[in-house]
Amino acid sequence: MPGLLYHTFKGHNDQYDAIVIGSGIGGLSVASLLSRQGKKVLMLERHYEIGGYTHAFKRKGYQWDVGLHYVGQVHIEGSTLNKVFRYISDEKLKWAPLDNAYDRAVFGDKRFDFVTGKENLRAELKKNFPDAKDHASIDAYFKLLEEVENVGIGYFVEKALPPFLARIFGPMLRLKLLKYSDQITLDVLKTITDNEKLIGVLTAQYGDFGLLPAESSFYMHALVANHYMEGGAYPVGGAANIANTVIPVIEKAGGSVLFYADVKQVIVEGNKAIGVEMADGKKIYAKYIISDAGVANTFGRLLPQAVRERHQLDEKLKQLEPSAAHMGLYIGIKDSPKNLKLPACNYWVFPDEYNHERGRANYKTFTDTIPVAYISFPSAKDPEWEVKHPGISAVEIIILLPFDWFAKWEDTAWKKRGEEYEKMKKDVADQLFEILYRVEPQLKGKVDYYEISTPLSTKKFTNHPHGEIYGVSHTPKRFRQEFLKPYTPVKNLFMTGQDVMVASIAGGLMGGVLCASAILKKDVLSTIKRVIT
Ligand SMILES: Cc1cc2nc3c(=O)[nH]c(=O)nc-3n(C[C@H](O)[C@H](O)[C@H](O)COP(=O)(O)OP(=O)(O)OC[C@H]3O[C@@H](n4cnc5c(N)ncnc54)[C@H](O)[C@@H]3O)c2cc1C
Repeated sequence: MPGLLYHTFKGHNDQYDAIVIGSGIGGLSVASLLSRQGKKVLMLERHYEIGGYTHAFKRKGYQWDVGLHYVGQVHIEGSTLNKVFRYISDEKLKWAPLDNAYDRAVFGDKRFDFVTGKENLRAELKKNFPDAKDHASIDAYFKLLEEVENVGIGYFVEKALPPFLARIFGPMLRLKLLKYSDQITLDVLKTITDNEKLIGVLTAQYGDFGLLPAESSFYMHALVANHYMEGGAYPVGGAANIANTVIPVIEKAGGSVLFYADVKQVIVEGNKAIGVEMADGKKIYAKYIISDAGVANTFGRLLPQAVRERHQLDEKLKQLEPSAAHMGLYIGIKDSPKNLKLPACNYWVFPDEYNHERGRANYKTFTDTIPVAYISFPSAKDPEWEVKHPGISAVEIIILLPFDWFAKWEDTAWKKRGEEYEKMKKDVADQLFEILYRVEPQLKGKVDYYEISTPLSTKKFTNHPHGEIYGVSHTPKRFRQEFLKPYTPVKNLFMTGQDVMVASIAGGLMGGVLCASAILKKDVLSTIKRVIT
């Protein structure tokens, strides 16, 4: 396991330039970027695994990822994301492209493939929707996506500007993006088509940010659609290889990465962050304190009450809603991905219901028809899988559901939540296996091991207060919250990760780029692009 156990740590208080709270992709990226600029960084992670939602877990020889199944653009040589990952991992992290049809949306018994490349996808959609009227709508849709492609640049640059400059230039820089982020996805799509099936297919990836088309910001929809336009890729060696390749960069610069290191509070003197107090009472000091724990934790839990009141942080948090929670079914099969003919893709499996809002509205209890299940085959995506895990395969299934369905078990202990809870998990698992066999029937009767997680497990392991998987929900309102940026009202306290940018591995990564730019007061992206050719 990479990193050091907190209790064995013998570091000195004045040894580090920066402390990073949390080791998700947002924490790893900012820590690496600062390290590569000569800063000594101490990363503190409360979980026993480094990586946040990029960590992997193992049971009985099997291994599953918790929050990375595919990333767009990273496999395109010369793309910004490709360069940033190469830089933060010192060229060690590699990516393997998924199948040409990287996402497969299944409605009832009809399959729609999201194929790699804009023109290929356009042609595939037109093949599935042969009416001339639908063809015109599909063309209008792609035109819209192109229109939105670069509108975020000013908006995100503004986040890294010092506050006084942001006050002057912010309104102008945000303008282009807000035109699209203020609109609801479904409303926009209804202006180009009244075909409910087409809308259902175009929004089949809504689970990538966990919000229904009738609620989500159109900017987020378009961002995700554009992100995967050239296909998806998976980290060679699995998602945990992100941390495995970044940690040496931090350590090489004199930094340390600690697990089982639970930060209780940020120490603030005057209005300046000067260190952190750990759960065991130990205090560690550094010039910069960076939080990857998400805005709900940073503003709501990690700052002293007086500081929260001074800056009305609770009022700010009231403007935000948590994103969806999830259940995950982790399956182990005693046969190789090759023998099982597992695809290197994801499925989005829906009932025969193209209206996602209706599908969701009909889902009122754990035993109702699941509106969408996401299936991923990490063992087929990773070219190194068969070397490390010969003769076995891993499958993951994810569903979205509200955290409050689990409220009655909140005060029970992990693995001791009672019979009703276990029954509920079994009911959900049974339904998910049926869904899996609908799309990959050869797996029936082959399952060797399975385990199912709930949002209570997510909360326990990630600290996100509502077990949310994508941080702050991507409604139009989210994009209006100017405080979702690296700078906080407390001097020398910065935020990184998905809440300062948007949800996703790419979003968390670029949150780190923005945060490093704010701290170093320079355009870190330009440095990366100069170094990585
Ligand atoms: C099931 C699932 C599937 C997903 N699939 C994909 C996908 O295929 N592609 C994609 O691009 N994105 C995907 N995502 C989204 C993506 O994983 C996240 O957007 C991203 O990883 C968030 O990174 P982060 O660094 O902002 O936060 P996190 O990864 O949540 O990291 C925050 C870290 O802070 C730590 N922490 C919190 N409080 C403290 C404290 N007090 N002291 C110390 N440490 C603390 C937590 O333990 C955690 O490790 C998925 C997410 C989930 C959950």
